[in-house]
Amino acid sequence: MTDFTRTRRAFHLPQGITYLDGNSLGPMPVAARDRVAGMMRDEWSELLITGWNKAGWYAQPRRVGDRLARLIGAGPGEVVMGDTLSIKVFQAVSAARAMRPDRRVILSDSGNFPSDLYVAQGLARAVGAELRVVAPEEVAEAIDHIGADLAVLMITEVDYRTGRRHDMAALTARAHRAGALTVWDLAHSAGAVDVDLTGADADFAVGCTYKYLNGGPGAPAFIWIHPRHADAAQPILQGWMGHAEPFAFDLDYRPAPGIERMRVGTPPVIAMTALDAALDVWDEVSLADLRARSIQLTEAFIAGVEANCPGLVLNSPRDPALRGSQVGFRHPQGYAVMQALIAEGVIGDFRAPDVLRFGFAPLYNDLEDVNRSVDILARILREGSWDRENFHQKAAVT
Ligand SMILES: *Cc1c(COP(=O)(O)O)cnc(C)c1O
Repeated sequence: MTDFTRTRRAFHLPQGITYLDGNSLGPMPVAARDRVAGMMRDEWSELLITGWNKAGWYAQPRRVGDRLARLIGAGPGEVVMGDTLSIKVFQAVSAARAMRPDRRVILSDSGNFPSDLYVAQGLARAVGAELRVVAPEEVAEAIDHIGADLAVLMITEVDYRTGRRHDMAALTARAHRAGALTVWDLAHSAGAVDVDLTGADADFAVGCTYKYLNGGPGAPAFIWIHPRHADAAQPILQGWMGHAEPFAFDLDYRPAPGIERMRVGTPPVIAMTALDAALDVWDEVSLADLRARSIQLTEAFIAGVEANCPGLVLNSPRDPALRGSQVGFRHPQGYAVMQALIAEGVIGDFRAPDVLRFGFAPLYNDLEDVNRSVDILARILREGSWDRENFHQKAAVT
């Protein structure tokens, strides 16, 4: 059994704060602060350029990728870290599409995160493909409908706004029957739900590490390619660190074997050191326990809000099997309500036009967080204290 009291203690959670926004930025693992300080003191300071070899900085993107692999149902040597998620989306979709050159359509859904859609639009324009976007519940049908013209199915497993979870295995099987490849974005899945890329027989996957994996703001993203494609996928961003021999300084590009080819340039060593430390806590976490606790927390929160907060409307699937680890509620003045809640020490976030969003991270959230947030939310709504001038003023990041 995973000891969630122990995992909670691994984080710095500020006094008086109930943090329900780990789906945007996970809190700081105490080990990360110490590890980064140690890296600065012992590695960068003392080793200088020799740190690439002596401290293992050069191998870090693969080594950290191996640590993360278990959390997404991937094997060792299949994941590499680097860049931002938007860039990893571009790399995965462009490589997948290049493996289906005779097909025109990249299919996604309107529940996807805009950056993924923007990247796919830009790629489609560059290579003469077409991005088609359908409603989330129409994806399966659209796969069959597009059929032999479908090159790539690009889907984010858990919808950032509603928490709706797609059936990865079923949609992948359907895309394969149509002869297409799949790219799964795990931004709201990795560290939140029991992802199993190998079991689902997916083709490509990408994700970020600053949400449920707690790697810190701007932590590097990851990319996975199924081993059956890893030596065939052609990177479009042909950076020197994905070259078979980066230090041969050839004038022509030759991809490195396997997933290593998806490296681009110099890795962010300091940020990845923080992420490496953030992954320590996962070593003793079972994904089955994680999923069970996530469901327990989201179910308790939904029941509490529905019993105590009239006027809030559930904006997430009611069936936990169809949901990730977050819950949304709608309120016509959602922005102001969330600001009032944050002022009382309960941090969630707001997504336009009217959604209050609450992420439940099983590693550090508990039933006390659920009860406290429900109580405060109910009081704010009952007293109408959200309707103050300052709670209506929009900040740049919501
Ligand atoms: C958070 C998120 C992103 C953010 O991409 P960055 O390049 O890391 O800023 C992209 N896609 C999805 C699905 C996300 O949830």
